[in-house]
Amino acid sequence: MAPDAVLPTDSPAAAVPAPRQHIRLTSHPGQGSAGAPTIRWGAADPIERGPVVGTTTHRSQRNVIGTHSGSYGVYRALAVAAGNLERGHRADLTDTSPTDVVGPHPQWADADRIVSIDPWGATVASVYAAQIAQGYDIRPTIAVTKAHIDLPEIRQAMAFLRLRPDGRVLLDNGSAVVTKVALEPVWWLPGVARRFNVSEGELRRTLFEETGGMYPELVTRSDIEVFLPPIGGQTLYIFGDPRDLANPEVTLTARIHDECNGSDVFGSDICTCRPYLTHAIEECIQGAQQGGVGLIAYSRKEGRALGEVTKFLVYNARKRQVGGDSADKYFLRTECVAGVQDMRFQELMPDVLHWLGVKKIHRLVSMSNDKYDAITGSGIEVGERIKIPDALVPADARVEIEAKIAAGYFTDGSVPTESDLAGVKGRGLD
Ligand SMILES: [Zn+2]
Repeated sequence: MAPDAVLPTDSPAAAVPAPRQHIRLTSHPGQGSAGAPTIRWGAADPIERGPVVGTTTHRSQRNVIGTHSGSYGVYRALAVAAGNLERGHRADLTDTSPTDVVGPHPQWADADRIVSIDPWGATVASVYAAQIAQGYDIRPTIAVTKAHIDLPEIRQAMAFLRLRPDGRVLLDNGSAVVTKVALEPVWWLPGVARRFNVSEGELRRTLFEETGGMYPELVTRSDIEVFLPPIGGQTLYIFGDPRDLANPEVTLTARIHDECNGSDVFGSDICTCRPYLTHAIEECIQGAQQGGVGLIAYSRKEGRALGEVTKFLVYNARKRQVGGDSADKYFLRTECVAGVQDMRFQELMPDVLHWLGVKKIHRLVSMSNDKYDAITGSGIEVGERIKIPDALVPADARVEIEAKIAAGYFTDGSVPTESDLAGVKGRGLD
């Protein structure tokens, strides 16, 4: 059997897989083959830009490296391997279209302004309807829906009369009405390389090597510029009218939040993540009630993008070190275990703001200078910066917050000295 014949071809009859003995090392046909649409990243017209085709079913249609759903693509593979999912399943996109229209904004037509999201990812079913009808397997990388969110901290803010229901943004039962958006990463490699000031070749080679050689096309197919990386994406929660996000006259309250499962979901008290997040939601609700709009942009970058295993190892190292957990050793302990203090790299973060058309954030609920610098450096104006209220910092999270303030995080109070930091102690392991 020829290697080319071992994966399903484009003929409908081939949708039923044959038993396979061979594995193709690359998932693309040779250069110049018919079928794969050209991507002209940054083109204003979606047809001229061309659809992102990451299907694993029709090899000849593919114009990207990698596939859809980020890390969940691995579960899809398991489902196929286990026989639970038919290889070549085509998504039925009936009634899945966005509840709210986002864009197009002028930023979408600037190749270097957005390099890690497909601006047309939410509307592929309509803008590429003709290509889909021709048999192209084009899938959305963005979905937009409506939800009610119900948080104990918001009920508490209502009990203390800091928030009042208005029947629009905040309901009598304590639920907040939101538009939420899920986005999968779509990287245009030349633009991503420029953001990090490395050559595209260097970026491709390092991605290839550091994923254990997972995507050979990174180094063998320089003509394919778009990569769907196997990483987590982002979720947006919008309070008020999403169209107002692009209007700099409407006051925008925003927090860019990086995932922290331990605190965000389980209330672990070693950091300020959930209290800061829920405080930001309170600020967003208040802002939307006063005629503004609120935005929480939540990125799946667990534990400073180091992952939870590394994070928990650092917790132990912090609490077992001589002298116990102290703010002056906070960053050092992370660096000892991970080799770096942080791997979140905010360079790509502003893309989602440009996708939304944001030009100005009037109230940024964040103390992080990395985030502030990335946002303003990308051309978005920032007005006021809102720090976490002192009363919301859990006792054991003092170590983290004081270390961050000493390292230059935004504060309107005093910056602790080295000896102050040595005196800020966290709880022991017992
Ligand atoms: Zn945290």
